[in-house]
Amino acid sequence: MSEWKQLAQTAITRPDELAKILRVDPEELRRVHEVYPLRVSRYYLGLIREKGDPIWRQAIPDIEELNDAGEVDPLAEEADSPVPSISHRYPDRVLFYVSHVCATYCRFCTRKRKVGNPQSLSDEGIQCGLDYIRRHPEIRDVIVSGGDPLMLADERIDAILKSLRSIRHVEILRIGSRVPVTFPQRVTPELCKILKRHHPLFLNTHFNHPREITPESSKACNMLADAGIPLGNQSVLLKGVNDDPAVMKRLVQKLLTIRVRPYYIYQADLVRGTDHFRTSIETGLNIMASLRGHTSGLAVPHFVVDGSGGVGKIAIIPDPVVHYDDEEIVLKNYEGFTCSYPTHCREHQTDEVRKW
Ligand SMILES: *Cc1c(COP(=O)(O)O)cnc(C)c1O
Ligand code: SF4
Repeated sequence: MSEWKQLAQTAITRPDELAKILRVDPEELRRVHEVYPLRVSRYYLGLIREKGDPIWRQAIPDIEELNDAGEVDPLAEEADSPVPSISHRYPDRVLFYVSHVCATYCRFCTRKRKVGNPQSLSDEGIQCGLDYIRRHPEIRDVIVSGGDPLMLADERIDAILKSLRSIRHVEILRIGSRVPVTFPQRVTPELCKILKRHHPLFLNTHFNHPREITPESSKACNMLADAGIPLGNQSVLLKGVNDDPAVMKRLVQKLLTIRVRPYYIYQADLVRGTDHFRTSIETGLNIMASLRGHTSGLAVPHFVVDGSGGVGKIAIIPDPVVHYDDEEIVLKNYEGFTCSYPTHCREHQTDEVRKW
């Protein structure tokens, strides 16, 4: 067995074992575990410094998860699912679920209903997904997701990417994976060699807090970047983790130093069992206001709300428009200074130039 697989098997999956390590009451963990899956990699567990810190909150089951507010599938991903392994919401791209396993199960996960459930995905399901993509020439971008696709064996990953690459209309491939954050040991030279064969291939990962940027995760990202893979990051805005402008600014700045480009910050979805993570929209807008202009534009992600009912992601920004009429638009910069810009171009002048 490969080294990373052996290491993956040391992850903690039993509530009693976890309770013992953390010196907490096992009963709460057991009760949450009856409803939702549990798994924490040794590495990620090792990043915890104290009870309730940003790493703890992301990985350790919390009794609050049993407060059943919210829906099971608020984004209506199932409704946009022509076959179980595909979500096809946008015209030219699909999400393709190929794995139900993750290195660590995040307590805030949007797909709580799916991850950890072996029934949610089979080999046949993957074949069905590939057939669907083959039959739909409008699909030019496939986002290989899960669960975590990089928890599959190297050969499986290679086979899936190869099948996708054999489809002429598929222009780009993307992988969505949190292993660089929760299990960076999975990013091996062998894996990088495989991924490299299937360019153009992008990878979006999922850092939520600057403390997740460690020598190990930095190394994983550097290896992927050296394999020519453009790296992006999708964070979720989480109460008690990163709902603070200083923390988020540090995170996006540090991401650039490991060659990861901040791509999205998601407003938390209205998923059952995640209500204790939810922040106000204003929190997100304030964070955006603290980034744009204050730090490198490269470090500024889009803040998106994934509207319920399957409308898709909608980006919002603090409104910079102070005034707008037929004459001028008045805009406010990041320091609060305003400027005016004419609404229309001077058409008569353009005509004169044309005459010449
Ligand atoms: C997020 C998402 C995508 C990808 O969206 P981009 O904005 O292109 O990154 C595609 N399909 C579904 C269903 C999604 O939720
Ligand atoms: S890695 Fe992604 S899919 Fe897996 S539990 Fe975390 S958020 Fe959910």
